[in-house]
Amino acid sequence: MRVAIQNSRIDDRQQCDSQVVKTEGARPQVDIVSEIRRIATCALQFSEVLLKEWLPDGRLKGREYWPTNPTRGDRTPGSFSINTETGQWCDFASQDGGRDLVGLLAYLQGVQQSIAAQMIAHRLGIPGLQGGSHSRTWCAPKAEIRALELKCEGARRRRYLEAEARRVRNQAAHRARFCWRQTVTASADHAYLRAKNVKPHGVRQIGEVLVVPMYKNGTLVNLQKIWPDGTKRFLAGGTVKGSFATIGAIHEAGHVFLVEGWSTGATIHEISGHPVVVAMNCGNLLPVARVLRSRLAPNVGVVLAADNDRFTLKNPGLTAACEVARTLDVRLVWPEFPCKGCRCTDFNDLAACLRVGAVL
Ligand SMILES: [Zn+2]
Repeated sequence: MRVAIQNSRIDDRQQCDSQVVKTEGARPQVDIVSEIRRIATCALQFSEVLLKEWLPDGRLKGREYWPTNPTRGDRTPGSFSINTETGQWCDFASQDGGRDLVGLLAYLQGVQQSIAAQMIAHRLGIPGLQGGSHSRTWCAPKAEIRALELKCEGARRRRYLEAEARRVRNQAAHRARFCWRQTVTASADHAYLRAKNVKPHGVRQIGEVLVVPMYKNGTLVNLQKIWPDGTKRFLAGGTVKGSFATIGAIHEAGHVFLVEGWSTGATIHEISGHPVVVAMNCGNLLPVARVLRSRLAPNVGVVLAADNDRFTLKNPGLTAACEVARTLDVRLVWPEFPCKGCRCTDFNDLAACLRVGAVL
């Protein structure tokens, strides 16, 4: 029966309604236990919504819902678990448990199962208990039922999309680790490094492509590949948000620079000697800055060395950097360009321009 419930939730829903049609008028003998079971079966179709309403602090982990148990002043989730597909629930701490959502609501509210079943029927807009002192047919607006269904579909769809995105990210991280093992130390003579006038600083290469490793929570999750002509690409589907590359040793640093691009970071590291964290694009500055602010000691300063995309409408580099500086405890610096007639936008460009200026 449980398998059937899982595989044909819509049919169950129809079963819920059809039973009432059969009982109407004929006033047959009604078995209260099977009536409660009918309502419990219907409740399963909306388990995620009902559980969120009854126990709002819970989290879904796979099919299990983990809230705190309000009946015993539970403070942290962990021992109270409800299966959203079968309705079985158990509190390992108090040894309480049951096999359906009607029993769960009765337990939470301290009421009889028949009352709990009525409450659920009312909430879902399905017929309530038929027969006995609880006899009453509930007619809920169809719009409310549809809204509930959409809510459940939305929650399921969201879960599916999240799981899918996680799978793609994990695959990319796997490819990143595989690819990283094939790399060799980058040649200081690489065309891109020469064009940017920076040293390799631990980046590697495959063939003519430079490979910059990107980490999140200390794990290699993505790579930025840089071709000799400056074309840059991440691994398809790889994590970018919150991941970053580093130049120099971050631990025990007095302060850390945060930049958008790898070559800008290399220049700043070579000039200042300070470690640099590279966010790879301006949209990732805030997520990375949050990570740094939460991981680094409060006395370690974060200096955001922004790009100055002065030829672009709205200057995305500087705009994003200002947003970070407004939101977090981060110092902001950006390049001004004394050079004329050039297209400089970042600290690497500036260094190149100043070098040229010095020899002219
Ligand atoms: Zn310039």
